[in-house]
Parts: sequence; C-alpha cells; structure tokens
Amino acid sequence: MGMEIPERADVVVVGGGIIGVSVAYHLAKAGVDVVLVERGALASGSTGKALGGIRASFNHPVNLQMGKYGREVYGRFAEVFDQPINYVAGGYLYLMDETVPMDHMEAAVSLQAEYGVNSRIIDPSEINAISPIVNANAFVAALWSPDDAKAEPEPATQGYARAARSAGALLLTHIDVIGIDVDDGLLRSVTTSAGAIDTECVVNCGGAWAPEVARMIGWDMPIIPYRRQVVTTVDMTDVQPHETLTIDLATSFYFHQEKQKFTVGYSDPLEAPGYQLAYDPTEWLPRMLEKAERAAPGLLDLGIQSGYAGLYAITPDHNQLIGEYRGVSRFLYAAGFSGHGFQMGPATGKIITSLYLGRQPFIDVSSLDAARFDGEYTGAREAFIV
Ligand SMILES: Cc1cc2nc3c(=O)[nH]c(=O)nc-3n(C[C@H](O)[C@H](O)[C@H](O)COP(=O)(O)OP(=O)(O)OC[C@H]3O[C@@H](n4cnc5c(N)ncnc54)[C@H](O)[C@@H]3O)c2cc1C
Repeated sequence: MGMEIPERADVVVVGGGIIGVSVAYHLAKAGVDVVLVERGALASGSTGKALGGIRASFNHPVNLQMGKYGREVYGRFAEVFDQPINYVAGGYLYLMDETVPMDHMEAAVSLQAEYGVNSRIIDPSEINAISPIVNANAFVAALWSPDDAKAEPEPATQGYARAARSAGALLLTHIDVIGIDVDDGLLRSVTTSAGAIDTECVVNCGGAWAPEVARMIGWDMPIIPYRRQVVTTVDMTDVQPHETLTIDLATSFYFHQEKQKFTVGYSDPLEAPGYQLAYDPTEWLPRMLEKAERAAPGLLDLGIQSGYAGLYAITPDHNQLIGEYRGVSRFLYAAGFSGHGFQMGPATGKIITSLYLGRQPFIDVSSLDAARFDGEYTGAREAFIV
C-alpha cells in the first residue's frame, strides 16, 4: 500500500537525516507548511552511521558557533525533546606528532578561546591521564578540549522527527524524490515515487546524495562521497568508563569507548570516491591496524567484533554548504558536512528557517554559500579532518 502524499506544501525537504529533520522541525515551529521526503527510514543515511561526536574544538569561526549551539541543544535534548540521547561530555584529545604544525594548533587554541572553548595544548606526560591506552611516546603534544561531547544520532533524529510532527510537519519515509520541475526559473513541483507535490521551495538535505538532488535542477553541487569504515571491539569485562574521543591528527586514526566496547576508525586517503557502502576490510584493515599500533597498541588485541561503513559528504574545503542557489527560485541547501554534520544539525535547522523566511540567521553563514567554489577553488582546508 502506498503512502498518502499531499498535493502541495510550502516547502519540501529532501532527506530525513539529522539535517532534514532539524530543518523540518524548525520550519514547522515557525508555522511553515512543510513536507519531508526520505527514501529509506529516518537516519538510514550517514546519520545512522555517525559516532555522535559533538566538538567545541573547531578552527573556523562559523563552525565554532554552530558547534557551540549543537552542544547546547544536545546537552538538554533529553528534557526539551523528551528523548534521551546519551549525551556525555568526555572531551576530544587530538594527538600531535612532529609533522603537525604547532603554530597552527596554537592559533586554533587562541581562536577557540575567543569563542569560549576551554581547550589547551598539553605535554605527552599528561596524555595518559586523559586517554590511558595511548602510546604517549609517539607524540610531541596534544590538543585537549574537555568540553567536547558525544551523543547518539539515531535517537536525536527520532526526537526531532517527533517534535516536527507535533509542530505540524508531515514526514514521509520510503518515498524517493525523482525529479524537480522548474518552469521559467521558478520551482513548481517535486516528483516522487508516490506522486507529485506542488511547491515553490525545496530544501536539499540529501547528505552525500545531495548532488543527485541538485542535478534535478541542473546544478552540479560540489560534494564528493567517500566511504568511511569503522570497527567495534568485542565487549570488555571489568571496564572503566572512559568517554574521551581520541584522534591521531597525522593519520586520522581515532577511537572512543561506547559502553563495554571501543569504536575505532580511520579515514583512508587511498579510498576512492563513490557510493560504495559495503564494509570491506581487505585493504583498509591492515592499514588501520598499522595506525592503531603506533597510537594505541593493544587496543585491537581486544579483538574485532564487527565493522560497518558509512559515507562522508566532502566539499573542497571540508566545510558544509548552506545557502540558497541563485540559479532557480527557490532551492535552499544544507549538505556536504564533511564528517561533522551530526553536531551541526541543531544550528542548521534554525539557520535554514531564517533563510527561508528572509531573516538574518542567528549565525552568519554567508561564508558557507556554495558559490565560494564557483571557478577554481584555491582556498584553505579545515585542519581537523577526521
Ligand atoms: C563513520 C562515520 C562517523 C561519523 N561521525 C560523526 C561524528 O562523530 N560527529 C558528527 O558530527 N558527524 C559525524 N559523521 C558525519 C555525519 O554522519 C553526517 O555529517 C550527518 O549525518 C549528515 O546528515 P545529513 O542529514 O546531511 O545526511 P544523511 O544522514 O545522509 O541524510 C540524507 C538523507 O537523504 C536521503 N535522500 C537522499 N536523496 C534522496 C532522494 N532523492 N529522495 C529521498 N531521500 C533522499 C537519504 O536516504 C538520507 O537518509 C560521521 C559519518 C560517518 C560515515
């Protein structure tokens, strides 16, 4: 039996990850008639694969502000949305070897201080008090950001979805958006696998698939999908609670503890772009084990229980795209979060709603407009890439 779809909506949101549900929630709360269309289940894209890291420690002013708002909202999510998300402020520890430029890290700490983030550079002798399993001898320093946190993305998505529905939004799942009709520069309707919805506005929250949605209006969106693989260890007995997320900056190897086990990952620079989602340890696992051996030998002696893969939606500067496309009226977008979209969910919904209503967003996101990549891109890349 097909799902009933409405004939029209003020706004159609494409994608039911953390970004889409937050956008739908904030639009509905502002009184906008909004329909969200998701081709799978809610959070079935990258959101359901995310580790749930919520960083205070960015080195880009917009991300510092958006991340701060994310921490505030997720920190009180259980009360406000009546949905536990297992929020824990266990900090992020960024391990630095001699290849990581110290002046760059010191500049990041200064910028973070300007935004009220309580981070600092620490000596190797302090590392094991924070992350006991690290081989501190392999590093010359670390950036310690104790205010960083983590939470569970799937229940957060469900919390936003429930609140969006209560505010009047219609969330449709297992329906594919297959076309967008534009007439004389004006958006007219969205074609789905269950019929058409007349609308004047689309918000593209398609994650790694956002370029496919943008192509429906003839726009080549600058996002490239990359597989990211993760393993979890077998359950440990007699385990001390240890919530810090630890990252080796030079290799991108990272781990954190979730209840009785560790989740361990590594962004392989040899991974080819594309939509492959199968977990395939053949080449990746030996490379990851090599990085583990240097940063945290013994961690994987625990034994690997399972592995999975998800997609990062990467932009040329590893920062998200948020704005309104100028080629068509009206096509807004929030995608390309390059591995940090879970924490940006709360701020993004609020910002997109302001952009839709023609108001000044509470954080100035003009630097995130996709037009920054028009022509050849030669600008800087965000430093902390996980
Ligand atoms: C292994 C891994 C670890 C991560 N860890 C973190 C972390 O610690 N902290 C953090 O902040 N972020 C993390 N991320 C990144 C985070 O998962 C993403 O940035 C975030 O989930 C993006 O949310 P989204 O809503 O934009 O995308 P998604 O969750 O991918 O949602 C997009 C949705 O759009 C739907 N869709 C696409 N096209 C269509 C269409 N044509 N019709 C209908 N529906 C469509 C898809 O089915 C999908 O559900 C991680 C990602 C991975 C893979």
